[in-house]
Amino acid sequence: MRVPLLDLKPQYKALKKELDEALIRIAESQQFILGPEVEKMEQAFCEYLKCKYAIGVSSGTDALLIALMAIDIKPGDEVIVPSYSFFATAGVVSRLNAVPVLTDIDPVTFNIDPADVKRKITKKTKAVIPVHLYGQSAAMDEIMEIAKSNKLKVIEDAAQAIGAQFKDERKVGTIGDIGCYSFFPSKNLGCFGDGGLVVTNDDELGKRLKILRVHGAEPKYHHKVIGGNFRLDAIQAAVISIKLPSLAKWSEKRRRNAESYNKAFVKARLSEGPGRITFNQRNPVLIPKAIYKPEKGPQPGEIATMVNYHIYNQYIIRVAKRDELRQFLTENNIGSEIYYPLPFHLQGCFSDLGYKLGDFPYAEEAANTSIALPIYPELGKEQIEYVVNKIREFFDKQ
Ligand SMILES: *Cc1c(COP(=O)(O)O)cnc(C)c1O
Repeated sequence: MRVPLLDLKPQYKALKKELDEALIRIAESQQFILGPEVEKMEQAFCEYLKCKYAIGVSSGTDALLIALMAIDIKPGDEVIVPSYSFFATAGVVSRLNAVPVLTDIDPVTFNIDPADVKRKITKKTKAVIPVHLYGQSAAMDEIMEIAKSNKLKVIEDAAQAIGAQFKDERKVGTIGDIGCYSFFPSKNLGCFGDGGLVVTNDDELGKRLKILRVHGAEPKYHHKVIGGNFRLDAIQAAVISIKLPSLAKWSEKRRRNAESYNKAFVKARLSEGPGRITFNQRNPVLIPKAIYKPEKGPQPGEIATMVNYHIYNQYIIRVAKRDELRQFLTENNIGSEIYYPLPFHLQGCFSDLGYKLGDFPYAEEAANTSIALPIYPELGKEQIEYVVNKIREFFDKQ
């Protein structure tokens, strides 16, 4: 059996007729940049996300960059980000000559640790970027509370979490000042190239984002601010408009797959069940042979009354002999990926920030032990069982 990490072809097949028609329609219109296709998509997102402004941009990275520009991040300003995320989260801060101030993560959810955010606030701190990593909301109550009492802006990196919910009906990305999404093909809602979205409920920010998207021009060729080319093209917008109505169904399928994995791991005696992660607090190491399932975070009746609707952009397990397991999975035609092997504080490009090995033990532990398994919506139950059985086989050989 072959189980790829991600297979986008079934999704294309299911919507092929509409998608192909849209491509031809745009070819015939010869209107490629912004325009009615983008406006239609933006309107759909305002309704879906229940937000006032949704603005299509050129990528998830550009969504983060334009968001920081909109809140006027200046050289020397400090922006707090988790040390464990996709590079763009910290990269955009440095691109504005601001300083990414790093924090550790919560060892269970992989998301930014609010207590560490609090510790890192200085007079120069302007904003915090919680990342809803792997499709699960960060601890937004705590983040918003800290931001409010310290007058910080909150830019949500929801690139991996479109449709995820934290609490009540609010979708992640609409809780902070600006939410950022990516339509990179491997995200839960992917286009046919690069694309992204920024959302806000703030009138001033909404207007600013729109102007910044077109080089800061308002009206055309008149520039009071310096923006960039952050435009989204019509083809990407049309693809997203066609796919958006299916997103909820795909998220449900991903969740069902995660549940199948969870059950299969328990059955294979590879997991002790959620919430029993045993860490040595000072020097976190995993018990050899143990696998830890991604946590859903507190459930109703537990710590908070939190829905925490995880949409599983990735299904991550943690294994002490991670690299050996990955090798074994590859030999058995099972796709996997390491997100992210090196936390920000150990990246060469950030060496001048003055961090060192050991500064963020949970981020380092996640980087050393995490491995993503196939979780895409069309994955079959037999495939999931095959993956789990192979992992069992790997551990039996240890
Ligand atoms: C994918 C991703 C981005 C960047 O999105 P692109 O569309 O690839 O530029 C930013 N942050 C996170 C957490 C991501 O996963």
